[in-house]
Amino acid sequence: MDVKVNIERMRNDLEELGRLGRDEHGGVSRPSFSPADFEARNWLRGKIERAGLCYRQDGAGNQFGRIDCPGRTVMAGSHIDTVPNGGMFDGAAGVVAALECLRRILEEKVPTARPLEVASFTDEEGNLVGDFLGSRAFMGMLDENEIRKGRTSFGLPFEDILRRTEFTADGILGAHKDRPELEAFLELHIEQGPVLEDEGLSVGIVERIAGKHYRQCSFVGQASHAGTTPFELRHDAFLGLADFALKATQHVATKHYGSMLTVGRAVLHPGSFSIIPGRADFTLEFRSSSEETLRVLEKEIFAIAEDVASTRGLGFASRVVDRTTPVVVPSRIVKIIEEECESLHTPWMKLTSGAGHDAQILAGACDVGMIFVPSPDGISHSPAERIVWEDLEKGANLLLRTLVRLAT
Ligand SMILES: [Zn+2]
Repeated sequence: MDVKVNIERMRNDLEELGRLGRDEHGGVSRPSFSPADFEARNWLRGKIERAGLCYRQDGAGNQFGRIDCPGRTVMAGSHIDTVPNGGMFDGAAGVVAALECLRRILEEKVPTARPLEVASFTDEEGNLVGDFLGSRAFMGMLDENEIRKGRTSFGLPFEDILRRTEFTADGILGAHKDRPELEAFLELHIEQGPVLEDEGLSVGIVERIAGKHYRQCSFVGQASHAGTTPFELRHDAFLGLADFALKATQHVATKHYGSMLTVGRAVLHPGSFSIIPGRADFTLEFRSSSEETLRVLEKEIFAIAEDVASTRGLGFASRVVDRTTPVVVPSRIVKIIEEECESLHTPWMKLTSGAGHDAQILAGACDVGMIFVPSPDGISHSPAERIVWEDLEKGANLLLRTLVRLAT
């Protein structure tokens, strides 16, 4: 098959899409269900319809464009929402690449034996209630209470946001009923790390996607006067957090190299310069590409927290906010992508994705695969996010060939 993607058209699409939600800091701010997101949704719908694909949207706002025929669907896509002040390629590159593949298949009348779909999933970035809202809805994996009663990361109840849209909690919770039988799901994405660029490669084949465990935690001590309480009588919740964060990070870095641990947000109470912190609330997130390691990490990290708490006379409490499972990409998918790299004479390497992706959620329904293209300087979630068009062209041609293989 000699059909190739039209990179000029893809570039034009990405530049058009990248202007929607452009903010005053030069980034793209397009969280799902924001006015900019609705502009982008209309834009995508127009592109899908003009391409001659059959447009569909489910109750969670996931958008699809289909080449119909009987059989199990081969799907490709990603997301078009962004983090606040993000870049124009995270997610968007994967949706535009999948759209371009289906356009080329239609234009060149490439014979396929299975239905094909481009997909764009709502709120992959988790600006609303937890990440992967759209793909989790598609899978029927949502927490009903969170959808009906949850608060968004902007502080507003989710139902207030929904009231301003065409979507409803019932529609979101029922979205999975419209899911077609899937043969496979493929996602092209920017790497969001420096490895491919360092290796001088245009594409990477993802072998594993890390799972994560995210908790909201607190050390609880005793607030008291900063000038009159001797060190030996203090129960300083902040020092508990600091001690724990250092010990836990060192533990992961030395005993489980390759896994990650991050304290990303910390709030001290009461939060005055003259008062010893009586409580430290913080997020704790750890990731690994191995299910077994995640289980071991959970035990070991909380043993460290309990130890720090008892040494310092503090209480420790935590609750799970979210978990995702690590995914091993099926070897049949990796093998097909490798073979297509060979036929395109595109050198590749296999790698692990430390970031989570919609593909990981869809792994519950079908075989999934991911193609990474380099992120110059490893930068993403930033206005400085870039892409090299030649890399994207190679990645999209690889996606096209893999899709045709899977749909034949
Ligand atoms: Zn993304």
